[in-house]
Amino acid sequence: MHPIAEEIRNCNKKCFVNLYQDTVYANKTWPKTEIDGIKPLVYGPENPRVLLISQAPSLQAWLNGKVSNSPDGGLVSEGNDFLINDVLPAFGLSGKDLDIFRENVFWVHACNCYPWYREPKNKKTGKITRQDRWPGNKQIENCLGQWLGKLTRIDSLNAIVLMGEPSTRLFPQLKEGSERFTDLVRKMEIRNDIIEGIDILSIYNQSKKNRTFNDPVDRAVNNELKLLLKNKFARWIE
Ligand SMILES: [Zn+2]
Repeated sequence: MHPIAEEIRNCNKKCFVNLYQDTVYANKTWPKTEIDGIKPLVYGPENPRVLLISQAPSLQAWLNGKVSNSPDGGLVSEGNDFLINDVLPAFGLSGKDLDIFRENVFWVHACNCYPWYREPKNKKTGKITRQDRWPGNKQIENCLGQWLGKLTRIDSLNAIVLMGEPSTRLFPQLKEGSERFTDLVRKMEIRNDIIEGIDILSIYNQSKKNRTFNDPVDRAVNNELKLLLKNKFARWIE
């Protein structure tokens, strides 16, 4: 485990503790007190070549952090369906290649300790609905913002992959000339002018729930981006 990954794992700011309640998942009720004890989800190998920054841990990944014995809370494991089915393929990898990912990719989130939480949809009735909220700017700044400088100075790093809109807010230069996140991604541009010696690529959140994929243009862009990332990734880890 990379020392910075350990540092983030041991962060006990508990950024979002006040935002969720007891949670029912897979027919089990998770009391808030148990969820509160889960550590930020981060994975970092000794000599990472690529820094992957995604939005925030899913509820499944987050709760798995409670029962996993591995140092990363099971984030990079066969049990993480999102990793196996969606993230690895974006890098041109399959479940068989998990070790390649493990060896080369440092995985953090714009909000590492952002648990999925419920909030009343209707403030009058207090009716609770499932809602996976986007992290706000302040939340991102308080959470990953405090580690970003250290992470981008890791010597072995060749590239940063930004998965989903929230992570791109960490690099305001990316937004110049792109009004929407979609416009930025559609450019399929690798930026090497923001941090010396580091390629930066923005891709869509690979979650199948991403509504962007209802648009045929974005589906096509996503497929092209996967090809680009596959080819680049092979070079970044050489
Ligand atoms: Zn945090």
